[in-house]
Amino acid sequence: MSGLPRPLAALAAVTLLSGAAAVPVTAGERTPQAPPVDCRAVKCVALTFDDGPTRYTAPILDTLQHRHVPATFFLIGPHALRYRADVLREYRDGDAIGDHTVTHPRLIRLPLARVKYEIGTAARQIASVTGRRPTLFRPPFGAWNARVRAAAGAEGMPVIMWSVTARDWKYRDPPRIEHRVLRLVRPGAIVVLHDRYATTPPAISSIVRALQARGYHLVTVPQLFATSTGLRPGMVYHHGP
Ligand SMILES: [Zn+2]
Repeated sequence: MSGLPRPLAALAAVTLLSGAAAVPVTAGERTPQAPPVDCRAVKCVALTFDDGPTRYTAPILDTLQHRHVPATFFLIGPHALRYRADVLREYRDGDAIGDHTVTHPRLIRLPLARVKYEIGTAARQIASVTGRRPTLFRPPFGAWNARVRAAAGAEGMPVIMWSVTARDWKYRDPPRIEHRVLRLVRPGAIVVLHDRYATTPPAISSIVRALQARGYHLVTVPQLFATSTGLRPGMVYHHGP
């Protein structure tokens, strides 16, 4: 835990103004490096966190804030409604926010109408908090097919997979999570972690420090692709340049 919660005044202003409709807040406070990083020219890595927010999100945000780095969060819609302050903090800090469905199903088993519901409804739930629709989609369990791509594309979202999985859902052991990420990471990596287990936040500070010591720039998923291919709705991405 580090420092005080950031601009309480800003948050208060949002709360006062929001009423029925969410009001966009200014994003980008924790932007990593200025001018923007060119991930074709330097080593980049994008840490991503799925399934939140939960009570384990805030300690991760504290660490990211302390290290002045952004991440990408793929939110479950009802969790976003329950942990609104954490979603607003992610947005305000300059983290990227993606859609991770309403009920976290294995979408490839579902008919198109249900797939559309899962993606579209979660997008609206997230937007009701931030005032902006998410621009990224990650399918639960990484399970996608043509229907999932089409439904994400229809919502204007690319499908974001990963190149490194921390297996934090399995190990529940901070040193083991850390070692696995640091062993597998390569320039352009998208690393999947989860902000739903107590054992993940304690691993994050060491991971960030070790990556920075190796010369990595930590970026959001959109930043990872900003100077190369960009991200196109309905396309699937596993790693950056
Ligand atoms: Zn998930």
